[in-house]
Amino acid sequence: MMRCTTAVNRFTLMPNAPALIFPPEVDYECTRCGRCCSHPWEIPLDAASAERIRSVDWSRFKPDLAGQPLVVPRSGKPGEMTLQRRGDSCVFLTPDQRCLVHQERGLEFKPRACQQFPYVFTETPRGIYVGVSFATRGIRSGTGTPLARHEEHLRALSAGAYHRRVIREPVVFDPDWEITFEDALALEGGLLELLRGDATSLEDDLVAGGVYLDLFGEFLRGERGRQRRPGPAFQEGWERLGYRRIREIAAKFRPSPAARRMFLTSFVMGVEAAFSPGSPAWHVARSLAAQVGSALRIGRIRLGSLQAILPLGAHSSVDFDPGNTALTDPLRLYLRHVLFRKRLIPFCGVRTGYRLLCIDFALVRWFAQARAALQGRRSVEPEDVPESIETVERYFVLHTRFDQVFEHAWLQKLLTRAARQKQFLGTMVRSE
Ligand code: SF4
Repeated sequence: MMRCTTAVNRFTLMPNAPALIFPPEVDYECTRCGRCCSHPWEIPLDAASAERIRSVDWSRFKPDLAGQPLVVPRSGKPGEMTLQRRGDSCVFLTPDQRCLVHQERGLEFKPRACQQFPYVFTETPRGIYVGVSFATRGIRSGTGTPLARHEEHLRALSAGAYHRRVIREPVVFDPDWEITFEDALALEGGLLELLRGDATSLEDDLVAGGVYLDLFGEFLRGERGRQRRPGPAFQEGWERLGYRRIREIAAKFRPSPAARRMFLTSFVMGVEAAFSPGSPAWHVARSLAAQVGSALRIGRIRLGSLQAILPLGAHSSVDFDPGNTALTDPLRLYLRHVLFRKRLIPFCGVRTGYRLLCIDFALVRWFAQARAALQGRRSVEPEDVPESIETVERYFVLHTRFDQVFEHAWLQKLLTRAARQKQFLGTMVRSE
């Protein structure tokens, strides 16, 4: 048994401590780019972290910190505290992009939220899944489970995690059905198999995943609870048969490009509204104008996330080649990891969570096309993709918690109703 007293290591390693489950293929190493400390939003501070920061005279190390409060109230969140910022950067970020707190007092002195970034932990009946936010430049693909080398550090972090999601039995499949976590894992296995990408298009694979879950819904209704392990039985059945039939059904789902542009633009404008000034009425009017402009390919929108003004006509004429593996391989890594880290299940259930995954993909493509359009290009290049994954993770996942919004029953209902249209996934996922 090991007992530590520092902020991160305050945990007791019991013989039956939950297993840490590491992601396959995904690796992370800090690149010291400083970007995670330069957000247009606030770092949340718990009371102990605030106390640690207040306990040191930081002006001894950085004279310009003298005479100013370094822990300040969060805007619009009474009772909550954050770190002082200068412009969009934390005051503790040094000119050479280091964290002064880390440099002078070590990792465990930093605010808990900073210590944990970019790791995300999801507690499940099987153990704790260790995920990584892709809102950083430090993501790499690796072989095996490369993060396992940090096991001791990650175990300590997960024990004192600032933020941890929990999945308990039973798991919501959709508003009508609950399944076990074992069933959900079996379904995840089928989705990962479809996303493996052996000579298939990523867009086809994603639509096929939606068909796979639709068929599982029908399977559940047909079985009416007679099957004790419906998830494994269903997945093993398709493993035996092969997934060709699913892909054939998915091939019939064709896109409606104008509807997709409108849908995605409304999501982008909704998230932009969360960190842009203006009244709610002004944001609604702005979003409606952007949706119409997107459908008709006219006008332009201001994007705080890219710090640019995007011409909608140029954006809609940028080509994204779904057969180009230089574009889709990083996306496959990201999407497989989102499934692995399971952060979509606790709020939305398996089926809605998967639809949100498809929307995440469509948003990454939307931003990659925006980047290309802003540089006057007519097609997306490989370097646009990781940057756009980072944008979606920063603004949609980390900051606004876009998935969490779908926790509201009426929004889930809206998405479920839209998804009942057979063409919904085709519209969201397929290129024009
Ligand atoms: S305290 Fe350090 S790690 Fe946290 S935001 Fe500031 S500079 Fe970044």
